[in-house]
Amino acid sequence: MKILVVNAGSSSLKYQLFDMDTNEVLAKGLCERIGIDGIITHKRPGKDDHKANVDFPDHKAAIECVLSLLTDKEKGVIASVDEIAAVGHRFAHGGEKLKKSAVLGDQELEYLESIVGLNPLHGPPAISGLKACKEVMPNVKHVGVFDTSYYSNMEESAYIYPIPYELYEEYQIRRYGFHGTSHRFVAAKAAELLGDPNAKIITCHLGNGSSITATVNGKAVDTSMGFTPQDGVPMGTRSGAIDPTVVTYIQKVKGLTAEQADALLNKESGLLGVSGVSSDCRDICDEAAKGNKRAKLALEILVHNIKKIIGSYIAEMNGVDAIVFTAGIGENDRQIRADVCKDMNWLGVEIDEEVNKTCPRGTLADISAKGAKVKTYVIPTNEEYMIALDTQNLTK
Ligand code: ADP
Repeated sequence: MKILVVNAGSSSLKYQLFDMDTNEVLAKGLCERIGIDGIITHKRPGKDDHKANVDFPDHKAAIECVLSLLTDKEKGVIASVDEIAAVGHRFAHGGEKLKKSAVLGDQELEYLESIVGLNPLHGPPAISGLKACKEVMPNVKHVGVFDTSYYSNMEESAYIYPIPYELYEEYQIRRYGFHGTSHRFVAAKAAELLGDPNAKIITCHLGNGSSITATVNGKAVDTSMGFTPQDGVPMGTRSGAIDPTVVTYIQKVKGLTAEQADALLNKESGLLGVSGVSSDCRDICDEAAKGNKRAKLALEILVHNIKKIIGSYIAEMNGVDAIVFTAGIGENDRQIRADVCKDMNWLGVEIDEEVNKTCPRGTLADISAKGAKVKTYVIPTNEEYMIALDTQNLTK
């Protein structure tokens, strides 16, 4: 069974074609600059990449180009579009109703359109991508996989904010959590490695956007991102959690509108805001190594906040069996991993410094010290595979 996974952004569309019988990625790629001009990068394992300028006035043009490349005699991997059994679409937000992955019919689409206010950045392009794919591939099922749905089983005490309850009832203001597809994938992998489906697991997805999730019994019990992906640990350009009064105070003293304050906290804060160097962790590490104090401080703040959240989740779960690092920073930055795990031996967390330093990038590794009570893993995330798997399960 072949499944196409689509992740549509405002000016981009990522795709991967999976053969679910062999668990292989047959082809993947990226359409960029949709609505501006257009570039497609198309990759197949073991073959040269194909990169071309193509005019993409909209998402429909982009998906049509993807399908023509997938079926191209030279650059393609399938003989006909009919070989694609179903399409899985990544959605950041499923709101309160789409609590698990679902086949997207008219009702579901209507609901997704009704909640774009909760998700103004990712919602509209994901819906455009879905509509374009439905138009171009009307005979197959389209499945939505939602980042928020992993958190739909959390207790009310974990997702209701201590603000007037009517705000939740009237405006659905609550903790939703994001990156759920990634946390679900790596937490399941860790449970498999532990041989314990009931395990208590803390997953640290540390990338440009970062979040930490606590999982018990395969279900998320808490997560650091909230009403939006702005909450939690500091990120590339997002502040993460701060005293909410800072926002209204900045607005007053700097005379900012709500939109300007939002942009300041989303695009000019986090690692970039503190370091003044870059939002990219590699650049900040380089600068810190040269003695740049603010770059060093940015990294220290990141580690401090990750530790704080891990500690709180251990308290919430009454223990932890494994801590998992994933995504760009989690999978690659050995120093951040070492700094996060430092001085946690009282809790049973201890890593093998040598293994942490030498384990190959991009592969699964057990970096726990011998005899450590808590396992520490590096697990490369694979959200696309998770989307393909849900799509297969809902359509086969
Ligand atoms: P996104 O959230 O956009 O998917 P990624 O998961 O790709 O982001 O993570 C991007 C982050 O990972 C950047 O801060 C980048 O510096 C960091 N990163 C990627 N490779 C390395 C590396 N080799 N060493 C340290 N950090 C890295």
